[in-house]
Amino acid sequence: MSATIAVLPGDYIGPEIMQAGLAVLAAAAATTDFTYSLKTYPFGGAAIDATGEPLPEATLKGAQAADAILLAAIGGPKWDAAPQRPEAGLLAIRKALGLFANIRPTQVLPALVPRSPLKAELVNGTDFVIVRELIGGIYFGQPRELAADHAIDTMVYQASEIQRILQAGFELAQTRRHHVTVVDKANVLATSKLWRRITEKVAAAYPDVTVDFEYVDAASMKIIQQPTHFDVIITENLFGDILSDEAATITGSLGTIPSESRGISGPSLYEPIHGSAPDIAGTGQADPLSMINSITLMLRNSFQATATAAKIDQALAATLAAGIMTPDLGGSATTDSMTQAIIERIKAAD
Ligand code: ATP
Ligand code: MG
Repeated sequence: MSATIAVLPGDYIGPEIMQAGLAVLAAAAATTDFTYSLKTYPFGGAAIDATGEPLPEATLKGAQAADAILLAAIGGPKWDAAPQRPEAGLLAIRKALGLFANIRPTQVLPALVPRSPLKAELVNGTDFVIVRELIGGIYFGQPRELAADHAIDTMVYQASEIQRILQAGFELAQTRRHHVTVVDKANVLATSKLWRRITEKVAAAYPDVTVDFEYVDAASMKIIQQPTHFDVIITENLFGDILSDEAATITGSLGTIPSESRGISGPSLYEPIHGSAPDIAGTGQADPLSMINSITLMLRNSFQATATAAKIDQALAATLAAGIMTPDLGGSATTDSMTQAIIERIKAAD
């Protein structure tokens, strides 16, 4: 069966890194048995220009019908004065697809250790994933109120919402090093106390996975002091928002990090964590790794195409080890030359 992938290139560096990522995918697929078809749709600013809407009906339908969705990046100054913001499209597609889990790998490849703000001996070998609950918690809870003399935000979690994100995290841990850390503030918050109770229940179904709990304040220190401690971190929306940016920082560049947003049913959406980088668009400086890593995450998680993903990973590591990297990683390669170097190594390994 051939996979159908919806492709949303977006704005500024979006189309540049999408083109790079798809070229790498084509090369790796040709050497393995992965077959797929691509359908490209306008999204974000590009869609506003074409149709007046950031998420046109045809784009949403195409995304819903696909087996997986690849998004590069959207938004930028061109649409500052537009009646609708490109980012409104992102919120709308997340909502329409019920994307409840945001999965962010934090991996520091040996060649990138010198880019990290942390000491090499601390960061070397870092390889963990944050599984963040994306559609509940304090960002959405009612009541909300903003008055002159007071304001209210409400953190609400249903047991079912907690259970499904925990299950996603435990299942992921089973494919990795079998270690889950649940991050909460259970000494203070009722929602965190419920998370702990439900974790005890869910954990019973995964006897091969070790579980520990960390308060979010302690966890944020440990990400800096001992990042190799972690395998899979599962946490609620607000804590996950903060911790995943902290985790991105220790890798040394925004330009390498992918993410998956997973739905209750239906396709996952894979995208770099960075924005559309208007400051470097058109200069050839965009790092394609965040898009390439989004594609390998898709190959593994949506299509179990492990061999195809491993081909890309090996070629990428060899390219970095040869010192071929874009300026954000301290090199002088362009988006194109780095992409070509990876493709050559995929072909050479064949
Ligand atoms: P957003 O609000 O969409 O998150 P932002 O203003 O936070 O956008 P980004 O677009 O994420 O900014 O970019 C932040 C900085 O990181 C910019 O200087 C940008 O050039 C750089 N950057 C982001 N992605 C890449 C990439 N793939 N390669 C190189 N540099 C990048
Ligand atoms: Mg940003």
